[in-house]
Amino acid sequence: MADHKKRVDIIIGKLRENGHKITPQRMAIVEILARSYGHPSVDDIHDHIKKDFPTMSLATVYRNIVLLKSFNEVLELGFPDGSNRYDGNKPDPHPHVICVKCKKIVDPDLDSLDEMTNEVAEETDFTILHHRLDFFGICSNCMAKKK
Ligand code: ZN
Ligand code: MN
Repeated sequence: MADHKKRVDIIIGKLRENGHKITPQRMAIVEILARSYGHPSVDDIHDHIKKDFPTMSLATVYRNIVLLKSFNEVLELGFPDGSNRYDGNKPDPHPHVICVKCKKIVDPDLDSLDEMTNEVAEETDFTILHHRLDFFGICSNCMAKKK
């Protein structure tokens, strides 16, 4: 995981560079995205922030995510059912492991990814720009509940 404070600084820097004001509300969203603990959805972020900012709407959270996405400072994990999840801690494309039961999402540390990318490039004669790599399974928590 990237250092949370460093990620906050980078994201705030990008916002300032592009002429966006850092309001306390925006700061609260950035704080959560910089950690991206468990890869939150817009609803998760909204639920969290509502405690401190009861007037903050879901649309505001969403707008801020779209803005940060436009600077490539948050990675969006899209799913066909529309329940998108976000990673502002590691904004560059990386593999994910997803629990099909509880929807927990984890970043695996893969040593073989560079090798795989090279293999794909060689095999297809493509210049690889980025990738989408999701593994689906059942997490140990959900597995224990099944027994
Ligand atoms: Zn699970
Ligand atoms: Mn991730």
